[in-house]
Amino acid sequence: MADIIKLLPDHVANQIAAGEVVQRPASVVKELLENAIDAGANNIKLIIKDGGKVLIQVVDDGLGMSATDARLSFERHATSKIQKAEDLFNLSTKGFRGEALASIAAIAHVEMQTKPENKELGTHIKIEGSKIIFQEASVTPKGTSMAVKNLFFNILARRNFLKSNQVELRHITDEFHRVALAHPTIAFHFYNNGSELFNLPSDNYRKRIVNIFGARTNQKLVPVEEETPIVVIKGFITKPEFAKKSRGEQFFFINNRFVKSPYLHHAIVAAFEGLIKSDSYPGYFLYLEVDPASIDINIHPTKTEVKFDDEHSLYAILRSTVKHSLGQFNVAPALDFEHDPNLQTPYEFKNKSVIQPNVTVNSGFNPFQETKNTPTASRSYQKPNTQSWESSYVGHESKMGADDSAGSISFESDIITGSIFEGEKESTEAVTTTFQIRRKYIVTTIKSGMVVIDQSRAHQRVLYEKFLKNSTVQQAVSQQLLFPLYIAFSKSEIIALQEIEDILVSIGFLFEKIEGESITVTGVPLLVAESEVGMILDQLISDYQQEITDESFSHTDILSKTLAKTLAVKTGETLDNASQIALVNDLFACKEAMVSPFNKPVYITITENDIDKKFI
Ligand code: ADP
Ligand code: MG
Repeated sequence: MADIIKLLPDHVANQIAAGEVVQRPASVVKELLENAIDAGANNIKLIIKDGGKVLIQVVDDGLGMSATDARLSFERHATSKIQKAEDLFNLSTKGFRGEALASIAAIAHVEMQTKPENKELGTHIKIEGSKIIFQEASVTPKGTSMAVKNLFFNILARRNFLKSNQVELRHITDEFHRVALAHPTIAFHFYNNGSELFNLPSDNYRKRIVNIFGARTNQKLVPVEEETPIVVIKGFITKPEFAKKSRGEQFFFINNRFVKSPYLHHAIVAAFEGLIKSDSYPGYFLYLEVDPASIDINIHPTKTEVKFDDEHSLYAILRSTVKHSLGQFNVAPALDFEHDPNLQTPYEFKNKSVIQPNVTVNSGFNPFQETKNTPTASRSYQKPNTQSWESSYVGHESKMGADDSAGSISFESDIITGSIFEGEKESTEAVTTTFQIRRKYIVTTIKSGMVVIDQSRAHQRVLYEKFLKNSTVQQAVSQQLLFPLYIAFSKSEIIALQEIEDILVSIGFLFEKIEGESITVTGVPLLVAESEVGMILDQLISDYQQEITDESFSHTDILSKTLAKTLAVKTGETLDNASQIALVNDLFACKEAMVSPFNKPVYITITENDIDKKFI
């Protein structure tokens, strides 16, 4: 048999390697920014067109390259950063594989201009699909400009696989954040389609964070500092009350390199335990310095994973350091507030002033009586500006009184819900009697037994359908604010807000302006309190940014869900009788009363039979 094994030509090998190094435009951005940093730049400019599909350019004022190095830099395994295997264990640079430029040049049109400080003239090179098509001496400032155009021009399958410009820009911005946060003393500019997204002057860590994430971030940051023989920790955590519902601002840097470490993340979460709700995430910007010999960042080509020699100690130190900061800056309560898992009182409630305990037993409740009881007084969950519950209650009630088929108005709107009420022909007994247990569930009776409703999920369902309906029929109900609200955001948050402005308007927000680094709100949806607007918009933005990477969703749907979850009554809130009844009636008027917008069961039924069995 003839020999069949052949060595792949370089350009093919490079293309294959490129598949690992370059997944999307953001990977190119990361490699180019890191090269600029390794070259000792003080000023770095990032220029993007059309989500990086048309152009990614990085201009630095670093060391530059000689004409020969300029050519060599595009060869595979060409690097100035390590020379021997031992160097791998003492890395102080971002790059070391010598793979990035070779890979990028294999799958894009690359144009480089570069000049070292001590030379008169620089070098201008053009490469297309690994082939140098042009090289000349040129007049150019000290440093390097690397322009990558038409990414994946020769791998159409990959190019078609790219997401919308918006999504790709989001990924690029994430990479930019990571690099810019790790190097606050380097000045960065970031332009997208000709407009400036970020202008970050050389600064300290705190100011860099604030410059990126907006002026409001400053008050959220709690400093963290610790020095031990195995690690030096610096940076910030965000105060527990600013914990977000989604992972957003969570950054670990090891020796100024952004890394992901679920293990260390867990250490932070553990330190926050009891201070934030279990479905919230703490924010952190933590900079760890360790002996380069004690870590191995070589385990993944895109280098965000890391392996530590002494993970367990690192975990323990990190957790106690964060705990200490939380205590020292008085953000942790002096005494752990009592934690009764049955009550699941949301964290915000611990700060509320103590109200006289309100016994919510409906004194008029008589299980044997099927007519309406006089509601007893207790705190109403309705916001002052809200008439909707009351009015829908009134509506249902008057219908019920007047019309014998009233039950069907509330209950037969859905086949599923209809089925539970089978046999419920005498409609007047439907929902007139309710009571609340554990400030969590609402119980009401049906002929075959009883229904136990999760109050928060029920309200989420009702609000969710309401918002969906509002946004589809474009008749949002909003309340004008007497004094417009002025709220500061970061530039990338402003961009997100601009992208979802139409949807926000369709659910009842009104804006005077959304630009620069702030917005002016002139109207809010009916159920939203003015004091909550900042928090709600934060939540909407982070959910939107979180979801945008997955295009298989409708923005309206996501935002309606978020809004419903944010505004719904919570576990732990006492509802007066009228509100309970209104909620139950509105719930069963929903299209899908069975499940919350997040697919959790909203209610269960317990039949007389079930109860009988317990008495055997
Ligand atoms: P690595 O960064 O792993 O060494 P790259 O392919 O990214 O590999 O770069 C190859 C080499 O090109 C680098 O080692 C460096 O010498 C040179 N180089 C790349 N970008 C720049 C830059 N912006 N300024 C100066 N030299 C650069
Ligand atoms: Mg590199």
